[in-house]
Amino acid sequence: MIKLGVIGYPLAHSLSPTMHKAALKFKNIEGNYVVLETPEDKLADTIEYMKKQNFRGFNVTIPYKVDIIKFLDEIDDLAKITGAVNAVVISAKGQLKGYNTDISGFINAIPKDKLNNLSGKKATVLGTGGAARAVCSALLNAGVNNLVLYARTPFKAESLKEILVSDFADAGISISQLEENIDLSDTAIFVNTTPVGMYGKSEGKSPISEQSVKTLPDNSIVYDIIYRPKTTKLLEYAQNKNLFTIDGTEMLVLQGAKALEYWIEQEPPVDIMREALNSCFV
Ligand code: NAP
Repeated sequence: MIKLGVIGYPLAHSLSPTMHKAALKFKNIEGNYVVLETPEDKLADTIEYMKKQNFRGFNVTIPYKVDIIKFLDEIDDLAKITGAVNAVVISAKGQLKGYNTDISGFINAIPKDKLNNLSGKKATVLGTGGAARAVCSALLNAGVNNLVLYARTPFKAESLKEILVSDFADAGISISQLEENIDLSDTAIFVNTTPVGMYGKSEGKSPISEQSVKTLPDNSIVYDIIYRPKTTKLLEYAQNKNLFTIDGTEMLVLQGAKALEYWIEQEPPVDIMREALNSCFV
């Protein structure tokens, strides 16, 4: 019996259980994947609970991808580079090892031809939290050589910039204050990693104005990593301009599949996971 779960706060929007339960069933693996909504003062208790209950592993989501690190015994190299963990494996001895599967999930959701075109180009990323760390590392690793980070609290972006500069010394990396109207005229890929537009109280809102989206070049990509709703206001603005858009669902599938691979040590059924997720949107 494999016990898996996800920790975060709030967690009402999580679609991970649907995807992972479908995968376990398909693989004939007896197990469960539970939602452990965890307020900040209960983070240590929840981790202890999972260890005592012999969980095989868990996902970490908003807002604990950075905070979780202090509870880990070991951290994978990629996760170390980004300073953010979204998947943890618990060994039989109760040792915790952290991974970052958002990086591969984010980048592999971009069609190969579009990805190849990003080399030497400029990317603009909104937000500087846990997911942004993975997104920025992935983009720089893919050859983007100019990265602008828009943050509502720029001083919080400094530590992310420091990490990125030490790993990607040749790239130009700058921080700007996030405002409703920004000029994106030389951006090849624009990524929203803030929760603005997500299911709940900010659904229907966009982190930037439609006027800002109109400044993007015609061949640029707009990628919103939010997966619920599938089409956010930001993506709607981009589609109005006929830009190529990517929503957060494929990233969710691919990051989840990679995490499952670490937990079950078998090839994950990616198509089954994608199908299960898509069934949530009909
Ligand atoms: P996080 O660590 O809490 O970071 C959120 C970032 O957004 C922070 O930089 C925060 O700024 C900024 N932000 C929050 N509210 C804002 C607002 N109203 N205006 C401007 N900026 C705002 O969260 P996360 O883990 O990075 O997740 C962020 C989003 O990505 C969530 O919607 C999550 O569901 C989604 N996500 C999707 C996938 C996927 O597989 N598709 C994977 C990971 C995450 P401050 O620092 O100023 O608070």
